[in-house]
Amino acid sequence: MARLVVLGGAESGIGAAVLAKVKGFDVFLSDNGKIKEEYLDTLRKWDIPYEEGGHTEALILNADEVVKSPGIPSTAPMVRKLTEKGTHIISEIEFAARYDTAKKICITGSNGKTTTTTLIHYLLINAGLDAGLGGNIGKSYALQVATEKHDYYVLEISSFQLDNCYDFRPDIAIILNITPDHLDRYDNKMENYVKSKFRIARNLRPEDCFIFDSDDAVTIGHLSKIVLKAKMLPFSQEKEVEQGAYLDKDRIVLRYDDDESAIYLKELALGGKHNIYNSMAAALAAKASGIDNEVIRKSLKSFQPIEHRLEPVLTIKNVLYVNDSKATNVDAAWYALECQTRPVVWIVGGTDKGNDYSVLNGLVKEKVKSIVCLGVDNKKIHAAFENIVGAENMVDTLSAEEAVRASSRLAEPGDVVLLSPCCASFDLFKCYEDRGDQFKAAVKKL
Ligand code: ADP
Repeated sequence: MARLVVLGGAESGIGAAVLAKVKGFDVFLSDNGKIKEEYLDTLRKWDIPYEEGGHTEALILNADEVVKSPGIPSTAPMVRKLTEKGTHIISEIEFAARYDTAKKICITGSNGKTTTTTLIHYLLINAGLDAGLGGNIGKSYALQVATEKHDYYVLEISSFQLDNCYDFRPDIAIILNITPDHLDRYDNKMENYVKSKFRIARNLRPEDCFIFDSDDAVTIGHLSKIVLKAKMLPFSQEKEVEQGAYLDKDRIVLRYDDDESAIYLKELALGGKHNIYNSMAAALAAKASGIDNEVIRKSLKSFQPIEHRLEPVLTIKNVLYVNDSKATNVDAAWYALECQTRPVVWIVGGTDKGNDYSVLNGLVKEKVKSIVCLGVDNKKIHAAFENIVGAENMVDTLSAEEAVRASSRLAEPGDVVLLSPCCASFDLFKCYEDRGDQFKAAVKKL
């Protein structure tokens, strides 16, 4: 019996362990931290041997193959030992795909993955197709392959999940955009991060589709260096395309094979320039899946914004409060500021990921009247923006409640208070969801 060891006992690791069990492996799961109670329940229910709070080498180095959770870097001591030994290390996505014959629509990119993945799933469901939603969101792909059966999967895939993919092949692969993020995991080399994203497309066949942003210089630059056999479907807001999607004044034009259709921007449920890109990508994936134009139009119209992504919370004294806690990098915050039509009181800050704030200068000058820093160390933010908004219009806060109260004092009727932090949340919060939830709770208390 082949021995499969799973490193990491969170969503993806637990799913991989269950699938391994179902497929008859001698499976063992090891986590050097604590495993959440709900996951322990699953391991017990499936009678899967495990350990937590440390790795026992003797139980791991005898693996025939290892599934590594995306959160564990390749520099972790146990991963190093396995690599030295020559053990094959794969991701949960690679493992699950071996046992799955469903059609797979897979989405990666620096920003917009969750939004676009959810939107594509919504489109498929509205078209009456049987589709699972997974990957980096919700229930793991492996668990679904183990316990459910679907005709389609719509999978959000992060670069960390792609790093250990080898034979994995989507039917439709999407790279939404590539901007610097997580470079600490890629030896601070953008090139390594770009290559990781492109792993989503490396096994595509001529009958598969590759959907990409042809306005994105990084994507186009990399495409010029490689050969992809797939049907190429670019989307652009800058120029007309022969096949794919482009912006023609106030409408999106879709061209797929001989069919041409259009959707007016005012019909889109999701606002903002970034969501035009996301909607284009989703509509193309739907076209490539044979979905009717009318279903596409209706779905793009009725889709509900998801939590923590430019989520309107409340209007109080004619000040709109918006929760964009998921904007954990500069590019996401750029799009959040870009689509604001009212003067902005901007809540920004947290754990800096080596941000270069200068790309925001123009938008801050144009739209932001005051800045509320929400983080332990706000020096970089002050240095970046004091000369634009004025030191007297910047305040420092250490909790969501304090930030909301300060914002409500600074805002005047007609303004928007926008939490779009550009940074990770771990200095003051458990995660971005916690930051967004605390923000919303504080707004509701005003
Ligand atoms: P991801 O799953 O890639 O992190 P999300 O859909 O959760 O993406 O969105 C993350 C953040 O990025 C949100 O603040 C959102 O408003 C913003 N965003 C969404 N789509 C895009 C895009 N295409 N380009 C830039 N920013 C985007």
